[in-house]
Amino acid sequence: MTNTARRDFMLGAGAAGLALAAPGFAIAQGKKKVVVVGGGIGGCTAASYLRMFDPSIEVTLIEPNKTYHTCFMSNEVIAGERKMESIAFGYDGVRKRGVNVVHDTVTAIDAAARTVKTAGGGSHTYDRLVVAPGIDFKWEAIQGYDAKAAETIPHAWKAGPQTTLLRQQLEAMRDGGTVVLCPPSGAFRCPPGPYERASLITHYLKQHKPKSKVLIVDASTTFSKQGLFIGGWKALYGYGTPNSMIEWISGEKTDGGIAKVDVATRSVTTRFGDTHKADVLNVIPPQRAGKVAIDAGLAGSGDWCPVDRLTFESTIHKGIHVIGDASVAAAMPKSGYSANSQAKVTAAAIVALLNGKQPGVPSYVNTCYSVVGKDYGISVANVYALGTDDKGAQVIKAVSGGVSPAEASAEFRRREVEYAHSWFHNITHDIFG
Ligand SMILES: Cc1cc2nc3c(=O)[nH]c(=O)nc-3n(C[C@H](O)[C@H](O)[C@H](O)COP(=O)(O)OP(=O)(O)OC[C@H]3O[C@@H](n4cnc5c(N)ncnc54)[C@H](O)[C@@H]3O)c2cc1C
Repeated sequence: MTNTARRDFMLGAGAAGLALAAPGFAIAQGKKKVVVVGGGIGGCTAASYLRMFDPSIEVTLIEPNKTYHTCFMSNEVIAGERKMESIAFGYDGVRKRGVNVVHDTVTAIDAAARTVKTAGGGSHTYDRLVVAPGIDFKWEAIQGYDAKAAETIPHAWKAGPQTTLLRQQLEAMRDGGTVVLCPPSGAFRCPPGPYERASLITHYLKQHKPKSKVLIVDASTTFSKQGLFIGGWKALYGYGTPNSMIEWISGEKTDGGIAKVDVATRSVTTRFGDTHKADVLNVIPPQRAGKVAIDAGLAGSGDWCPVDRLTFESTIHKGIHVIGDASVAAAMPKSGYSANSQAKVTAAAIVALLNGKQPGVPSYVNTCYSVVGKDYGISVANVYALGTDDKGAQVIKAVSGGVSPAEASAEFRRREVEYAHSWFHNITHDIFG
């Protein structure tokens, strides 16, 4: 790593609010091995910061894809505001940090033998394992919507070909068409994401197909940054008027979301029994931790993996740390910035543990920008600390922060979009080099 790259890297750590003191970590005697499963946001950050905090550790990152597409800013791709290439990242930068990157899929984790096996026939032993596989979909949750149906009715909740497909369908749609977007029930990746997507699709339609409409058929009765989104929809798209380009059907009126998808007619039926027909249909199914984590028993009988929030070590299997969307880390949302922050906490904790030291007490951070339309951004930002709830259970608590103001000048909203793009530039540099 060059001096400049190292300085930028350190700045990234500071900007992300890492509160653990990096100096003082002793360099391990002999080669300690850490394997990281998943080269997404959490995995790449953890692998890189392990190497930076203790270059004597041998770090192997296992990820099937040679290119990672960030979900963040993928809604701008869907709206035609940016190109797919701008959200594509390779692994050379992570390799330059001294990480051994293996392109393969982990098929099994043996917690007792401290070994992972891959589809390509590889076997990797570890002293500590980091599992960051993101999410998988509960294909069984909505009748008629499975992986095959997603080839024509995109979810676009993992960026890549699905993002391109949804974009193409919007481009091909007639003016006067209806886009139906169905957010999921339960805990899911990026709580404000569906509403940012609905906003940006409306932004695209307003410019190119103004007779069209976006209908959100929701599973929930409230949503993230709701007041701010609705304020933006009123300001930009006539929300609440008869001519509104965007409409939200609350989970109260759907009885908790959609029960059925009919691929042939591109329609959804809610649990109440109402049917909505779409010209473009975007179904975001309910989610759980990535399959490899579920198969390894890391979620127990649940959907997400419980961890000790001090170190992100699994409370089910010792020596395995689960970070990012797959972990239970409430009150942090399942976001890329959360995964990035958790990865740094975990890297520092693993270095301490491998060197026979007590992990420090962490703080964590998350900021999430949403672009509602042209020059109109909103955000939520929080710093978190480890604490306990009323019953004495360990929790991550927001200790400062909040959402952007309900009343703000046009210049304030414009700057939030600029900050969103600047955040994207900085965090991807931090993660992928
Ligand atoms: C539309 C949208 C907008 C978003 N906007 C934002 C935003 O503005 N800000 C924000 O902070 N977050 C945002 N997010 C959320 C963010 O993208 C996720 O929270 C983040 O990617 C989680 O990181 P992760 O490391 O847990 O999972 P991922 O980044 O999904 O990485 C998981 C990786 O694991 C790999 N993997 C899976 N299984 C295996 C296996 N068996 N073997 C090896 N590798 C495996 C996958 O290929 C993948 O590369 C958005 C999400 C969406 C969908």
